Amino acid sequence: MSFANGLGLHVVFTGAPGCGKGTQARILKEKTGICHLSTGEMLRAEAAKGTPLGLEIKALLDKGEFATDEMIIDMVSRRIDEDDCKDGFILDGFPRTLNQAEVLEGMLKNKGIALDAVIEIQVPDEIIMERILGRYACMTCGQGYHDKFLKPKVYGVCDNCGGTDFYRRVDDNRTTVQNRLVNYRALTYPTIPYFEKKGLLRCVDGTGTIEAVAKKVNKVLGLPE
Ligand code: AMP
Repeated sequence: MSFANGLGLHVVFTGAPGCGKGTQARILKEKTGICHLSTGEMLRAEAAKGTPLGLEIKALLDKGEFATDEMIIDMVSRRIDEDDCKDGFILDGFPRTLNQAEVLEGMLKNKGIALDAVIEIQVPDEIIMERILGRYACMTCGQGYHDKFLKPKVYGVCDNCGGTDFYRRVDDNRTTVQNRLVNYRALTYPTIPYFEKKGLLRCVDGTGTIEAVAKKVNKVLGLPE
């Protein structure tokens, strides 16, 4: 997709765990071709390596605690410089603290990039727990499913790639989700008024179907359906 301003598209998706930001980021990537940068996925990939840093990250993620800003900021900065981000990016899960938001602002300024929008996907806590506890994904291609809301067309077979192995995230259990919600409110929520003051915040009701929410995202970004 080419962008009218010639500068690409630079978007942040934010919201509570399970609000659908990863799903919407993947849909927006499909539509626009810009890069999807999920700090959660980057951290899970590092954790899976089993290195000393990976093990440290895994211990934090399994409890629903945040990785340190030092772990994250450098990782994001280097990723943004890669070639596939030249037409823009969708940040998913970053910034997650006020400090990360401030650092992002300075980092983008240095790179000559301006954020176009910060999209907050709003979903009440009762719905979040049901969404997270039922979600799982294809081990081969990462396509997401849900026990109740999004089942594969053929039981046990991924619609996207035909894979038959699926996984659930270790941090998608009731205790860890409760901790992630507490951390969201205490540490991430303060970034919402921060971006609002900068005129970047766009709020989207995340309670409808995936397609309905995607339409709302397109609308706030001024993209065609
Ligand atoms: P997510 O896939 O976005 O739900 O992230 C999974 C987990 O990775 C979170 O619960 C945090 O522990 C960690 N994480 C992801 N992004 C960040 C970030 N920007 N800062 C700190 N921790 C993060």
